[in-house]
Amino acid sequence: MRWILMGASTIAAEHMIGAIRSQPGASVHRILSSSPGRAAEFAATHGIPHHGSDLAAALADPEAGAVYISTTNEQHRAQALAAIAAGKHVLCEKPLAMTAGEAAEMVLAARARGVTFATNHHLRCAGSHRAIRALIAGGRIGKVLSLRIFHAVQLPAHLQGWRINDAAAGGGVIADITVHNADTARFLLQDEPVSVVAKMTASGLGEGVEDSAMSIWTMSSGAMVFSHESFTHPFAGSGLELHGTAGSVFARGVMSQSPLGEIELVTAAGREAIPFTRDDLYATGLAAFLAATRGEGAPAASGEDGVRSLSIALAVRKAARSGTCCPVTFPE
Ligand code: NDP
Repeated sequence: MRWILMGASTIAAEHMIGAIRSQPGASVHRILSSSPGRAAEFAATHGIPHHGSDLAAALADPEAGAVYISTTNEQHRAQALAAIAAGKHVLCEKPLAMTAGEAAEMVLAARARGVTFATNHHLRCAGSHRAIRALIAGGRIGKVLSLRIFHAVQLPAHLQGWRINDAAAGGGVIADITVHNADTARFLLQDEPVSVVAKMTASGLGEGVEDSAMSIWTMSSGAMVFSHESFTHPFAGSGLELHGTAGSVFARGVMSQSPLGEIELVTAAGREAIPFTRDDLYATGLAAFLAATRGEGAPAASGEDGVRSLSIALAVRKAARSGTCCPVTFPE
């Protein structure tokens, strides 16, 4: 499968080019940037054979079968719809779009065109998260009562651009990290939130957008979820805790782009370290995506998963803005 990258981005450079190249038969064929100079430079740096700024010309390339979209968030929708119309399979970064309705439109377009469309929610590809999900599914913690997600980190200096000062490009920690927490909660609990309360603030980095948020969600099962995300916490460390009637899970360092962290299960029998696989998260997601394009199974996170994670994040932002409890609704 030959890939077009839309977006000369950090995530493409740091993770996705390597993930694509790790897959048998997959190659990075072309880079598309809004700047011809940046496209040429990115192509030279990463050894990509084709580059340019013309979306239509890129999509007219019959050799390319798939597109990975990692531009700023407000561009995802138009680029995805164009790629889908050209019959390309699309792996799109989160958040899929600026509104849940736009994201749902992308999913419907892909379904109508018969191409694979997926969301790059990497955390559900982590061995750690899969091990925790298996503990829950295996009944090791009993009935789930609560999930606390700690995802307050320090945004690296080289990413302190549109994320902290450009609402029109989809900036803000809720669009950036709450969507991942939403997908994590859905993946682990196999349940949906029905309502949320929230607070958000700018605590040193955000200029016109929030850089920190805390929210509490009620899941349809009645379980409660606490979600904390930030760009301004250098020493907090990430993790999650899951508490049930028969046990608790303490997972440190697992809200990461790398296969890191430790998991401990605590039950009446004592403390138990839980082993998990340490495969590359993005390569794992790529493998599932490529299999899906061959009709073998589903992507790790579908387009519908991306619609839902965005819907939850937008409900959190609405709740924080309004100071009220907001229902979580999903587009048809
Ligand atoms: P970047 O800021 O690195 O890149 C976004 C866009 O900014 C690029 O497409 C590029 O535009 C432009 N850009 C890059 N470098 C420059 C420059 N030197 N001067 C001017 N413009 C520049 O974004 P990220 O890689 O951090 O994020 C991109 C997308 O990926 C977002 O949607 C984000 O939410 C998502 N993401 C997902 C992650 C995950 O784990 N799933 C992790 C990180 C990000 P152009 O292409 O036009 O050249």
